[in-house]
Amino acid sequence: IKKIGVLTSGGDSPGMNAGIRSVVRTCAFHNIECIGIYRGYEGMIEGDFKSMNARSVKGIINKGGTILKSARSKEFRTVEGRKKAHEQLVKAGINAFVVIGGDGSFTGAMIFSQEYNMPVMGIPGTIDNDIFGTTHTLGYDTALNTVVDVIDKIRDTASSHNRLFFVEVMGRDVGHIALNVGVGAGAEEILIPEEDLGLDRLLESLRRSKQSGKSSSIVVVAEGDKIGKSVFELKDYVEEHMTEYEVRVSVLGHMQRGGSPSCFDRVLASRMGVKAVESLITGKTNCMVGLKNDVMALTPLDQAIKGQSKINLELLRVSDIMSI
Ligand code: ATP
Repeated sequence: IKKIGVLTSGGDSPGMNAGIRSVVRTCAFHNIECIGIYRGYEGMIEGDFKSMNARSVKGIINKGGTILKSARSKEFRTVEGRKKAHEQLVKAGINAFVVIGGDGSFTGAMIFSQEYNMPVMGIPGTIDNDIFGTTHTLGYDTALNTVVDVIDKIRDTASSHNRLFFVEVMGRDVGHIALNVGVGAGAEEILIPEEDLGLDRLLESLRRSKQSGKSSSIVVVAEGDKIGKSVFELKDYVEEHMTEYEVRVSVLGHMQRGGSPSCFDRVLASRMGVKAVESLITGKTNCMVGLKNDVMALTPLDQAIKGQSKINLELLRVSDIMSI
């Protein structure tokens, strides 16, 4: 392998820049040329490439977002689009690439590598932590810290006014963020896509906490919670059935994806970049690098895509006990 491309694709997440830096510098260390591919697969199709050296990635380890920009490309989903992308890679002499993104980006890489026999390696970059084969995806730890910090602030106003807050956090399919920030910020209840606690149980829990003398309550709700109600519908429901609280809603949204990466994410990104490039050098392909039992491990892309990233149910029990 003489030239490795690196791209970020799908939703951005904190730590992607640290990942790019690591891929570029590991290439430099092994005397391999590294090419930055801008705007994900969109830029691959258009040949939006730039040669990168160790100095091109200075001062980015602490920056959120991605200097290579990210995009979603409809064209790459087509045979013709991928043909154009292949022509561009061949023209630039790129023999392999590392893609930092989520399961959609990995699916694209897998199909491409099968069609053109090109070595590819994935680095999981998404705040949702919804990828099988790693205990942590890039950006997840930062998002947890960002959200806990915000809920602490919401708690200040909630307890000053005896309010109940429903706080919606990201997580359409998995409740990792909700569950962890819920425990970390001392939420009364946590509503996640994996478990339906039920509306009766929610009311009962809120009544119990009011009776036990609590002055404020926070309920953390994942976007895709199984009760199937939006935070606004939950507010209406609770207001209908309880008069004890003034209810407010806070939808955190995209701020969860931004910010300077935590130390954990910077270290993880650095490790993943080294593992991705060195795996390509040793002839590995079609895999994702991940963290398992605190060591870097490879998972075949098809398993990473299909496998289920399971939440830690023990945490639900811890949350129950803590909200007594
Ligand atoms: P996020 O965590 O933000 O969802 P993701 O990587 O899963 O990240 P997607 O938008 O699903 O984000 O995928 C990113 C890009 O990967 C798509 O825009 C598309 O170009 C490519 N891609 C996804 N699925 C396929 C597919 N089945 N075939 C070819 N390319 C695909």
